[in-house]
Amino acid sequence: MSAEALYDLVVDRYADHVNPGLARLMGFAGFGVEVSAQGCEITDHEGRVFLDFLGGYGVFSLGHSHPDVIAAVHAQLSAMALSSKVFFNPRLAELAAKLAEIAPEGLQYSFFSNSGAEAVEAALKFAKAATGREQIIATEGGYHGKTLGALSVTGRDKYRTPVEPLMPGARFVPFGDADAVQAVIGPHTAAVIIEVVQGEGGIHVAPAGYLARLRDLCDQHGTLLIVDEVQTGLGRTGEMFSCVGERVRPDIMTLAKALGGGIMPIGATLGTAEVFSAVFTKNPLFHTSTFGGNPLACAAAIATLEVIEREGLCAKALQRGEQLMAGLRGIQSDLIAEVRGRGLMVGVEFRMDDVGELVIGQLTKRGIIAAYTLNNPRVIRMEPPLIVSASQIDQAVAAMAEAIAETEALLAQLPAMG
Ligand SMILES: *Cc1c(COP(=O)(O)O)cnc(C)c1O
Repeated sequence: MSAEALYDLVVDRYADHVNPGLARLMGFAGFGVEVSAQGCEITDHEGRVFLDFLGGYGVFSLGHSHPDVIAAVHAQLSAMALSSKVFFNPRLAELAAKLAEIAPEGLQYSFFSNSGAEAVEAALKFAKAATGREQIIATEGGYHGKTLGALSVTGRDKYRTPVEPLMPGARFVPFGDADAVQAVIGPHTAAVIIEVVQGEGGIHVAPAGYLARLRDLCDQHGTLLIVDEVQTGLGRTGEMFSCVGERVRPDIMTLAKALGGGIMPIGATLGTAEVFSAVFTKNPLFHTSTFGGNPLACAAAIATLEVIEREGLCAKALQRGEQLMAGLRGIQSDLIAEVRGRGLMVGVEFRMDDVGELVIGQLTKRGIIAAYTLNNPRVIRMEPPLIVSASQIDQAVAAMAEAIAETEALLAQLPAMG
């Protein structure tokens, strides 16, 4: 089949059998059909190679097709792919022990699922069950997934309003404002759920001291602190977990995206002994998942953690992140309002809506993949694999400078928007 015929077939199938609106949206954005991927590069149906500076929103921290993760999954595949559920699962046990070793102090237990939203579902359910309380404090612009429970604490009306009423008890406060939490928290508050760097919200970094104050407030009120590390976790921000730099110990922590090494889907909900005994002592089957913790996913995650440590990816994220932010800050343009981020979780905020979309189009033309954040279309995010090289960062920065210059030229021809 010719490249063009393949493209038409896939887009038609999207339009007829997947999601017609999405088919149009992706078509307009000019993306082709993905065919293969290796390291930081994705190849499309025409054989064009793109530098992946989106990194699957944090999934591809090890890059694409990491050979060690593939080998671990292959080996597990020939032994046993999925769990019987009646025998003890040794891969699950190994991964849980490994996570307890590297996680912030006290997070001794893990529950495994298949995605970020599921990890958040478990976190919310555990918090309610362990405290017997109903209220969950979440932040405006926060993103925790789109299943009904996770959506209940996701701070964007656009996704929530059409399906309300959602889980009762969610209260939203501005991100970064501990006083706002203090004003709402009380004896009925089960948990505060937070991202240390809001991803979909537009790459907002928590101000210094914010997490420590939330920890204190939670301690004062017998409330659990849930840190959602689905996107920030496993080295992305320059630390194994973004809350480590803040020296704050969560009661519950969620992981997903990068945990499967870009090869397998997996989610994890870590908790303290207090939380897990409150949840599971009376009923060990209180929360379960058929595919959660399956041997293939666990083998991928174990290999992933080894690679992150062996290749020193936390330090690399910090170093390359500084290079990327310095490069982007060096671009002189009135369109840019701010460049911000931590490690390799970087956002470029524009002064106007719609500019982000135009710049992304220009980047795509130049072979660089980026995206705007779901909850804030003024912000372009750059989250390349943590294995990205210094020269690939330079290449992306140069492409961004050109893309912005061309966007400025385009806008200058549209006096109405100027
Ligand atoms: C992506 C994301 C989720 C949801 O993960 P899915 O695997 O898409 O369900 C939850 N929390 C955060 C912080 C995320 O970035």
